[in-house]
Amino acid sequence: MFLRELDAPITSIRGAGDTTARLFAKAGIHTVSDLLRHYPRDWEDRSRMVPLKDFSRFPSVCTVITVLAHDWIGFGRMRTLKVHVEDDTGRAVLVCFNRPFLERQLIVGNQYRLWGRFYYKYGEIQSTAFEIEAVHSGSANSNTAKPGSGSDARGTGFGAGPGKIMPVYPLSAGLNQGLLRKLVKRALDEYAPALEEELPRAIIERDGLLPKPQAIRAIHLPSSMGELDLARKTLIYGELFYLEVIIGRRALERRKITGGPRQEAGNRGNEKNQPTEKLLTPLQQRLLERLPFSLTAGQTGAIAGINRDMDSPWPMARLLQGDVGSGKTLVSFLAALKAVEGGGQAAIMAPTELLARQHAENAARLLEPIGIRLSFLTGNIKAAGRKELLKRLAAGEIDIALGTHALFSQDVVYRDLRLAVVDEQHRFGVTQRSLIMAKGDHPGLLMMSATPIPRTLALTVFGDLDVSIIRDLPPGRKPIKTHLAMEANEDKVYSFVRKELAAGRQAYFVYPLIEASEGGRTADLKDAESMAERLAREVFPQYKTALVHSRLDEEEKRQTMDAFRRGEISILTATSVVEVGVDVPNATCMVIEHAERFGLSALHQLRGRVGRGDQQSYCFLVYSDPEGPLATGENLEDWQARLKVMLESNDGFVIAEEDLKIRGPGQIAGIEQSGYLSLGMANPIRDAAELEKARTDAFAILETDPGLLLSEHRCVAEVLERAPPFGGVGL
Ligand code: ADP
Ligand code: MG
Repeated sequence: MFLRELDAPITSIRGAGDTTARLFAKAGIHTVSDLLRHYPRDWEDRSRMVPLKDFSRFPSVCTVITVLAHDWIGFGRMRTLKVHVEDDTGRAVLVCFNRPFLERQLIVGNQYRLWGRFYYKYGEIQSTAFEIEAVHSGSANSNTAKPGSGSDARGTGFGAGPGKIMPVYPLSAGLNQGLLRKLVKRALDEYAPALEEELPRAIIERDGLLPKPQAIRAIHLPSSMGELDLARKTLIYGELFYLEVIIGRRALERRKITGGPRQEAGNRGNEKNQPTEKLLTPLQQRLLERLPFSLTAGQTGAIAGINRDMDSPWPMARLLQGDVGSGKTLVSFLAALKAVEGGGQAAIMAPTELLARQHAENAARLLEPIGIRLSFLTGNIKAAGRKELLKRLAAGEIDIALGTHALFSQDVVYRDLRLAVVDEQHRFGVTQRSLIMAKGDHPGLLMMSATPIPRTLALTVFGDLDVSIIRDLPPGRKPIKTHLAMEANEDKVYSFVRKELAAGRQAYFVYPLIEASEGGRTADLKDAESMAERLAREVFPQYKTALVHSRLDEEEKRQTMDAFRRGEISILTATSVVEVGVDVPNATCMVIEHAERFGLSALHQLRGRVGRGDQQSYCFLVYSDPEGPLATGENLEDWQARLKVMLESNDGFVIAEEDLKIRGPGQIAGIEQSGYLSLGMANPIRDAAELEKARTDAFAILETDPGLLLSEHRCVAEVLERAPPFGGVGL
């Protein structure tokens, strides 16, 4: 059996009844496989002793104590047991909330192993979060119990091995560490030894990885930190290997459709020198003739690549990267025209209804006059209209459909979908791509993103995509001027904005919260609702102000955005809903309050809402007093570093690199959050080197043995067939 095939219900583990199963089900754990793939979020090295006297110097105490006395506080049902204990170095009190049964378990005079977080309270060293385990009688007299002694411990059921490295699991309501450890251990004992290998033997031997049974055991119950490292390395490599096998297979698939590798056009470099008219189709030229500007070099290069892809017998799979404001929308319209001209249909998908609607309005303005039949489809389109619309789509009476992910819901049928455009690609999840592909006969795919992806990642995660990059912005754009301001100086910012408004410009004010009550400890945080009122009433009484955030209904949002676009509203107070896509060239001021609360890519996206016309634009990053409460719990340097980057750079590519540096092994904007990668252990950024290796290995195998027929690749074929990773959808 492969790990993913262990689909016996959790109740098949001894000691797990229906009640337990129900608790686990809430955490998404139904089968033995789910349980064994519920990896610890951390490991506590309990092989190192931390005596009571050092309680404040380490996160937790790890010692051997003798029980001195029991003591009860409170009355009736509120009675709480206090257990007085001591080790070689001092005394402490265990406060046993809701654990009256410990009275019988912790016997006065006996010794126990103790782990817990201690603090100083009421003149005592106390703990409420602790775990205890009986010391084996053989070592009962040894106050300096060594790691490993008494490994036969019975008590709270950790059943720890000699190394005493304890897994710490992510928990959800009703689950506790003891229960998880107990069941995981039983599941390991029963199922792990028979687990089948998932990686080719040659790779395991080359890299000294652990065999699967040992890897899965050691990730939960390592016997040493060294073994734990190896187990992690093994599992991480395994995930990345299958990720790359799937990507590699898809690249092969694409090739197979047409037979033979694609000619990497030798004219790549020359295209930019060709007159634009030669690159464009007649319909594309008609659109351009209607525009008051011409394409930038980057846009021209992108559409050249797209046209070439769409002329080749291969389905296109292209990633278009371009900084905010670089004009990707226009490129996607040109691409859609190419599909329409070839007799097919195109769909353009945006992550929010706000943005989808804006695209639809632009399309109506630019494309309808040249005879293109459009439709707008979101989850909010009502039944009757929707039915009619779907009928026309299916009949081919619509050329280009614009909308949200509703464009690819189950009941939507296209007559001949040739191109799917995914705008702000990083906002979408893993399954989208396969849903889209299912809507046509190998439709071309154009993914667009303003979040540059580091080279390694682009090569690997998006390994089967061609990439176009727009490096230039439309001419005449003046770089946005960015200023920092302390919260106490916000009035200066407001005065500056007032001057811009007086000159007929518009402004955004962005806040981290929708309303005041949100999120508990937020008394000191400004929210969009209260500030909309304050700005309207006190600060800018002579200008019209409006509010948008994600909780308003779509119609209200639409009306507000339209009015803002038409210039009827001067000030738009918002949350980060305006982060993606919104395009109002007359807006010249972006004020972000509590800028310290926003991530770097959000800040850059928000700033990108201004500077879209030929007026000088400004971005004000207002931050709260650094001495004030930092609800994010983050250290000061990180947010300071973010604001510094914003101050120093306007370039999305530079900012993405810096973001990576600041967040270190963290994640890159959007990619993980959106579930783009449903990896368990691996993090493609942190594990870039492993990823590269896995890619080389996977591609080498597919190259020599595309059908995975050789006996040494048998296990790969079997995994793909019997237990496909990533839910079988791939990316
Ligand atoms: P993004 O790449 O962020 O999606 P948009 O497609 O929203 O950028 O374009 C930003 C603005 O630039 C729009 O108002 C668009 O009309 C304008 N624009 C696009 N291409 C050009 C161009 N070649 N010259 C001048 N303005 C352009
Ligand atoms: Mg855009």
